[in-house]
Amino acid sequence: IWGPDVADGTERVPSGIDTTSPSIARMYDYYLGGKDNYAVDRAAADKLLALAPEIAEISRRNRAFLGRAVRFLAERGIRQFVDIGTGLPTQNNVHQVARTHAPGARVAYVDNDPIVLAHARALLTENGQTIVVNADLLDPDTILDNPAIRSYIDFDRPVAILLFAILHFFADDDRPYEIVARLRDAIPPGSYLALSHVVSEDHPEAIDAAQDVYRSFLKRSGDARRTRADILGFFDGLELVDPGLVYVSRWRPDESDGVPVAEDAWIVGGVARKN
Ligand code: SAH
Repeated sequence: IWGPDVADGTERVPSGIDTTSPSIARMYDYYLGGKDNYAVDRAAADKLLALAPEIAEISRRNRAFLGRAVRFLAERGIRQFVDIGTGLPTQNNVHQVARTHAPGARVAYVDNDPIVLAHARALLTENGQTIVVNADLLDPDTILDNPAIRSYIDFDRPVAILLFAILHFFADDDRPYEIVARLRDAIPPGSYLALSHVVSEDHPEAIDAAQDVYRSFLKRSGDARRTRADILGFFDGLELVDPGLVYVSRWRPDESDGVPVAEDAWIVGGVARKN
């Protein structure tokens, strides 16, 4: 019902979805080989893929890291997850991975893209055990004070905050460090922060080009490039678990997810505990 209908060359669009401007989530869906993207998304994404075809592979590695991190957190006893910047559901969504290892785990999905919210509501809440919240990470109190979140997630008990492949869309003047500090302050000891982020030093030209493509439709002019050292700053006051902040495919690799360990670059990730 939702996706582009390529058979007759037309695209059926759910109401509320703007197909005149690209969307982060739909471009990411395209990198991952999904069908929930439109011509405008593919045109923007193809500009980047022309420069750096490995973006597709990097996206899959990021997604696989997300799965391994959630499994790790479930095995560490985490039963509450707040997944900020959910993206379009693919395989191995957070609640599926979490519940495989921790039946009954609660997952709150947060995004601000209408297509993500529509899909998430249709697919992710099928068993009534997740919630989907429309909120903007630019103002983290819209997440932390959201009534649905507050009645579903108990902030007196350990929570994992997931920020996968989202902070690199925030320029420094969006104050991402203050935003993440606010989230860190809201969770009790025993909680975790897990995130991934594009690293700026490896492919500077492609990163600059990527930044230009995203800036053109996000209507933000600030700089969102961050070095590995910058990204470490998001974990201030927390204790990174082994192996620290590393290229995502090197974070506790597990052959069962089908993603080989590679000497790759572009995106680093880590998981840290609040003590
Ligand atoms: N976390 C997923 C998807 C990453 S794509 C993964 O790593 O696989 C980034 C997601 O962040 C998109 O779904 C986009 O809609 C969402 N996003 C971007 N800016 C946001 C904001 N300010 N508030 C909430 N969500 C945002």
